[in-house]
Amino acid sequence: MKRAIRAVAVMTGLALAACGNTPKPDDAPLSAPPRTLTIGIKFDQPGLSVEGPDGKPYGFDVDTAVYIADKLGVTPDHITWREARTDQREDLLNSGAVDFIVASYSITAARQQLVSFAGPYLLAGQDLLVRQSERAIDQPEDLNGRTVCTAEGSTSADKIRRSFAQNVKLATRDTYAECVADLIAGTIDAVTTDDVILAGYAHEHPGVLRVVGHRFTRERYGVGVRKGDLELQSRITTVIRMMIDDGSWRRALDADLTASGYQPLPAPVVFNAPDKTVTPGDPATLDPELVNAATAVAATSNARDWEGFRSLVCPETADVIDQIVFQYTPQFDKSLGAEVKNAGYTNTVTGVTQNDPNSATFAFHESFTNVPEKYRSYFKDIDYTGTMVRRNGAWKLCGLAADFVEP
Ligand code: GLU
Repeated sequence: MKRAIRAVAVMTGLALAACGNTPKPDDAPLSAPPRTLTIGIKFDQPGLSVEGPDGKPYGFDVDTAVYIADKLGVTPDHITWREARTDQREDLLNSGAVDFIVASYSITAARQQLVSFAGPYLLAGQDLLVRQSERAIDQPEDLNGRTVCTAEGSTSADKIRRSFAQNVKLATRDTYAECVADLIAGTIDAVTTDDVILAGYAHEHPGVLRVVGHRFTRERYGVGVRKGDLELQSRITTVIRMMIDDGSWRRALDADLTASGYQPLPAPVVFNAPDKTVTPGDPATLDPELVNAATAVAATSNARDWEGFRSLVCPETADVIDQIVFQYTPQFDKSLGAEVKNAGYTNTVTGVTQNDPNSATFAFHESFTNVPEKYRSYFKDIDYTGTMVRRNGAWKLCGLAADFVEP
């Protein structure tokens, strides 16, 4: 089969190449005083991060944070851990109480107004946790008339409010641990949040709790940094890429998450999640050839003209194109039913910003048509941000980042 949406994809390397300052711990002079970091983490999410008997957290998010700290030149004994509950994360970052946060923190456009994200470093999806004996709840639609619990301030609560509010009673708590206690006590019917978190709780309570096993959102975990700290954002993104490439990511995943039976999604394509808005440029000052090239990227994609599309892309980006397409396009998600392949898509250019004569950023929006009802909540529109570079007089698409759009 032809690759339906090859065109919209793009590459990720630009931010990394532009960064060019991969942190090297050995750079620090021997006499330099030890540097310290305060890192925000959860304390009650088995598999991702729980507090150990010594007061120190452990789990996949912790391993990721320790890896990042190490590459920034900070050893574990110079890390101060600070609990970062779901609804506290933006305040902790912007007040300077923590340097960064690794805490099942989904990258969303709304949060990017308040903080910046490095990554993504893990993919997950919202699911439901029920009592083992529950027979009637298999998907969110089955929650009609029932009470579902989640953490205040989470994407999980947003999703229920947005898509299922009429029929579902939502109970919010400060932490998922409180929801789980209520589920076991029988005062609520289900807990909803990301499958990876729920799997940890199910593993902690075998024979008592189980995950339903139907992801109905797509979550990308990012490392939260203070809004606008683009240098730290870029360095951490580089380090996450290293963690995946050198095998540490997979080892941590196996040790912390898959051991409980959790089936993780593939490693994410890593790029700096852009939090700059691309504005519609003034046609009077934009290079008309740039506008033509940006329009052609969207048009060749829409026309499934892959040869034409390829001619607009920097050759060194070809490999990552596939990765992004496969990860962001639900039509290619093998965990969904075959009928998703028939969904259509349309890309529209929404903004072009020219930075200088040879570089520009453009935004295009992808929406889907003919989406099977069953998968409606799974198809989110996508905002792509493309980096255009003028080479030998011709504008080429050399970089891309993707963002799901919350309805
Ligand atoms: N990933 C979701 C979020 O960031 C749910 C998990 C959490 O609350 O940390 O809202």
